Amino acid sequence: MSDEDRAIQERARAFVDDELIPHEVEAEMNRGRLPEEVLRRQRARLRDLGLQAMNMPTELGGGGLSTFQQALVSEQIGRATNALGWVLTTPAGWLPEVATPHQLETWVEPTIRGDRHECYAITEEGAGSDVEAIEATAARDGDEYLLNGVKWHVTSFNLADHAFFQARLVTGENAGTQAMFIVDLDAPGVRVVRTPEYSHTYADEHPIVAFEDVRVPVRNLVGAEGDGMRYAYEWFRYERLMIAARCCGAAERLTEEATAFARDREAFGARIIDHQAVAFMLADSVTELWAARLMTYRTAQELDDGADVKLLHAHCSMVKLFASEMAGRVADRAVQVFGGRGYMRENVAERFFRELRVDRIWEGTSEIQRVIIADQLAKRGTVLAGGNAP
Ligand SMILES: Cc1cc2nc3c(=O)[nH]c(=O)nc-3n(C[C@H](O)[C@H](O)[C@H](O)COP(=O)(O)OP(=O)(O)OC[C@H]3O[C@@H](n4cnc5c(N)ncnc54)[C@H](O)[C@@H]3O)c2cc1C
Repeated sequence: MSDEDRAIQERARAFVDDELIPHEVEAEMNRGRLPEEVLRRQRARLRDLGLQAMNMPTELGGGGLSTFQQALVSEQIGRATNALGWVLTTPAGWLPEVATPHQLETWVEPTIRGDRHECYAITEEGAGSDVEAIEATAARDGDEYLLNGVKWHVTSFNLADHAFFQARLVTGENAGTQAMFIVDLDAPGVRVVRTPEYSHTYADEHPIVAFEDVRVPVRNLVGAEGDGMRYAYEWFRYERLMIAARCCGAAERLTEEATAFARDREAFGARIIDHQAVAFMLADSVTELWAARLMTYRTAQELDDGADVKLLHAHCSMVKLFASEMAGRVADRAVQVFGGRGYMRENVAERFFRELRVDRIWEGTSEIQRVIIADQLAKRGTVLAGGNAP
């Protein structure tokens, strides 16, 4: 870690300690929501610290951090529950490269400034892991596309004003391929079907949203027809790595707090940390955390170094798989160490126990990560784990 990396990490840690963690229980008891003045203060502090839109180029007003530095920040953000860290927005990293001047001006730059908010409408009732099975359609009609489809789990829809909508083209020479469109959410034909409740208590909802004969101008097409999946894969790599980083942060917080409790709490005349059954749970947690952290940091550095894209894809799957499953085990042990207190919603372990579960599902389930890893293992062998090529 360079001095600059360490300074960024410390700034992020101070932000989380001062501005997020003190509001967790308030958010948990209030459907994840915080007062507007608290959010305004958090956003202003993030801007002062240079962390807002940290993944965006500085020319566009973003933070311009390296992937490794972003992983360090995400790790700190992961220490807070209730998705309070989502106040730090990271617009789609691949977008500035492919966006037209109109798209930069209309959506990308305002999102970087924090004036606009995006959401992603890709998953459908019959197409989650199998993204190729998407049934939403896009039909070219003069200077417009006509979009139709019903999207599930559209995270942050209630706080967003535009969506990235993935659909299958049904007209023209690229019919059958997928494409991505930007849809303003006030467009006629965008309708919330219903807003289900989820395990966690977040301000960001995940409704089912219908897009019915929604018309968008051709200039809302992202990149070229047929590019759709390319962007989804690039996004998956980034998000999987950042999920791993956040899981490391969560595991650190859980291990810290459970260890502090185990040092204080006495039972049968001894501190519970002196009972080996408790001590060994904590020893396992800190050991697994270290392994996950090393994998995460290394993969982030590989992304910065421009490593081979297939190797990167497998490594992002490996860290996401390992770190999310690790964090789930750490949360489960932390609940156990806290005893009855660990089952109370005001306790950090109870909240993380629920919240971390989805990290084994979204951005590719653990099974899908294993499919990707096994495919690369079959093609390349244990070079995936730093071994020699056969
Ligand atoms: C809280 C939340 C927020 C989300 N936010 C968004 C969002 O903003 N935008 C968006 O587009 N999507 C979002 N998603 C969707 C998410 O990415 C999908 O839920 C996820 O990819 C899994 O798809 P699925 O739910 O359809 O499960 P399915 O694909 O139906 O899988 C069901 C089970 O089958 C297993 N399975 C499937 N295929 C295989 C296989 N080949 N081998 C072995 N096992 C397999 C899976 O691992 C899983 O255990 C969100 C989901 C949640 C829960």
